[in-house]
Amino acid sequence: MQQLIDYRRDQELALIGLCHAPVNALGHELRQALASACELAASDPAVRAIVLHGRQLPFSAGADIGEFGTPLTWQAPALPQLLVDLARIDKPLIAAIGGVALGGGLELALACSQRIASADARLGLPEVRLGLLPGAGGTQRLPRLIGVAAALQMMLDGQPVDARQARDMGLVDRLVEPGADLVAEACRFARELLAGPAPARPKQGPLDEPSSDFFAAQEAQLTARKPGQLAPQLVLATVRAASELPLAQGLAREQALFRQALESPQATALRHQFFAEREALKIPGIDATTPLRPIRKVAVIGAGTMGGGIAMNFVNAGIPVTLLEVKPEALDRGLAQIRKNYEISLKRGKLSPAQLEQRMALLAGTLDYADLADADLVIEAVFENLAIKQTVFRTLDEVCKPGAILASNTSTLDVDQIAAVTRRPQDVVGLHFFSPANVMRLLEVVRGEATAPDVLATTLQIARRIGKLPVVSRVCFGFIGNRMLEPYAREAHRLVLEGASPAQVDRVLTGLGLAMGVFAMYDLAGIDIGYLVREAMRDQLAHDPSYFRLADELCARGWHGQKSGRGFYRYEGRERLEDAEVVEIAERLAAELGIQQRSISDQEIHDRCLFMLINEGLQLLDEGIALRSGDVDLVWINGYGFPAWRGGPLHYAEQLGLAEVLAGIEQYRDRLGAYGALWLQPAPLLQRLVAAGKTRIEIC
Ligand code: NAD
Repeated sequence: MQQLIDYRRDQELALIGLCHAPVNALGHELRQALASACELAASDPAVRAIVLHGRQLPFSAGADIGEFGTPLTWQAPALPQLLVDLARIDKPLIAAIGGVALGGGLELALACSQRIASADARLGLPEVRLGLLPGAGGTQRLPRLIGVAAALQMMLDGQPVDARQARDMGLVDRLVEPGADLVAEACRFARELLAGPAPARPKQGPLDEPSSDFFAAQEAQLTARKPGQLAPQLVLATVRAASELPLAQGLAREQALFRQALESPQATALRHQFFAEREALKIPGIDATTPLRPIRKVAVIGAGTMGGGIAMNFVNAGIPVTLLEVKPEALDRGLAQIRKNYEISLKRGKLSPAQLEQRMALLAGTLDYADLADADLVIEAVFENLAIKQTVFRTLDEVCKPGAILASNTSTLDVDQIAAVTRRPQDVVGLHFFSPANVMRLLEVVRGEATAPDVLATTLQIARRIGKLPVVSRVCFGFIGNRMLEPYAREAHRLVLEGASPAQVDRVLTGLGLAMGVFAMYDLAGIDIGYLVREAMRDQLAHDPSYFRLADELCARGWHGQKSGRGFYRYEGRERLEDAEVVEIAERLAAELGIQQRSISDQEIHDRCLFMLINEGLQLLDEGIALRSGDVDLVWINGYGFPAWRGGPLHYAEQLGLAEVLAGIEQYRDRLGAYGALWLQPAPLLQRLVAAGKTRIEIC
């Protein structure tokens, strides 16, 4: 068996090194070995203090997530009890934290009497991101150490803090410069403690008493900011317990709430998301042996909304970018916008003046394609027009060096038709960034018919390097995300013609947890953008005169959304107001189209929008456009604001019940007459899954 603990003696000190590569996940075997080692050290009279460290590894990244939902999680020694035992050891027990102490790893450090950390270490309790709460004493010990407000903040954020911040908060007692011998410093610290008069464990003062309305205010804030989310509310309840109950009772309360969180559908959904992110990087035909092309220089064509944001991603990662435009004014505007964005970061204290200049120095503007000759990756972000993009790619084919990867940021166009105008279609790929491109995490990587495996592998790797979550899609109209958006938004628009208001539709969707409703989103993206896409395919849409009719009407009036102060809503500054005139326009259009208006229930809005979204996701899977249902979910969570705690549209479908979704689509299809017969067709995969009695989505 692999040796999980390295136990050494150094005179009066016991050194316990965790050696469970790669990150000292606290699985059952490691817990067992750790318990034995601590018992040995505690019972040995020659040992006066103990140093706990990650032997040449990070201290610990926490619980073994693979154990979740299995009996191993609770098999003795379970982490909560192990940490209670450790906290009882009446000798200084010092956590020497290098790398990370996250989740259960930080809870382990909290059960120690002191903490010393390498200055580049990161400490955090990210459980809330998995729909959980720290369940091994963290919710009780952290507030006792750093105070109620700071502890609550750290657990609700789920974001790690760096060791310096941790020291300032009182979470870490001492810092060690990176590169110094952490274990040696921890031993020195232990000997200092032994030489001093202090007791083995520092006495904890009484917990600071938050004001009487502190918890009520926090609860109101959570309800407003994270409506419907269970884990943050449970975190708050545990911290309240910490402030009101003695430790042992607080720990018992934490246990009960932890189990409640663990068994919740929200935690299942967030775990699904977590594993989907790992899976998304596994692509058939690509593995660790697939060669990668070096990417040292990047070029971006078009310095508009997307081009500028895309360029910033690479510059932020230290990769030089050449930005090409057709006109000098457009180039100047694009570069000025990038500087402005960085200046905002500077004002917010996220960037130093030197960093700003460093980033701008990595950016070169040009009007001349000859300057792209040495680029390893070129990303085109010009107007969404096939002929223009093809012209750009013909030129790229002339000027770029052999082996350069040629990418398009198109949202809807056929990447294969773009690749076809080059003599190197194997080097062409779609890289669909989302707006704002320097912020949004999702990157749809569009694998064309001819895209070479090493091109795909390289783009996946570079996506990670710039902090994106790449999800691979095959070529189709709109790829995964925008193709699903179409039937979802179509139903939303149609529902307004049938008698709902835009605000009612949006309320139902945000009530489900979506970051934005359909109409607020269209107003933000620009109603004219969708109009242009529809114009290009008008002949295919002639059979349904109601199709996005309201959007077309608003566009014709110049009501393009937020940017024009009016769209589906009216805008006063940043405030979004309902617009009675839009509802009147919808009434008039409905009359023209012979649509009988009626009162629409929230349930119908939910069902028709969501079922159509789910249906299209299943169809994409069936067509092989998306590789797996988790990929579809990731696209909607990270690109369209679908709540992660519902696991994405397809996971949500499983929770609703596939048979219920199918029955719902059929019911609305029958009820909606010609419109229903035209659009509400169940995906064959959904029918097959239900016929086979499946409750989980798979290709069958
Ligand atoms: P934009 O109009 O803001 O920018 C386009 C820029 O390209 C302009 O600055 C223009 O001067 C420049 N340009 C046009 N033709 C050019 C040429 N031949 N050579 C060099 N530069 C040229 O548009 P955008 O919103 O940044 O969209 C760009 C691309 O990104 C489109 O394909 C769009 O579909 C896609 N996209 C946009 C979004 C979004 O939300 N805006 C999201 C994802 C993808």
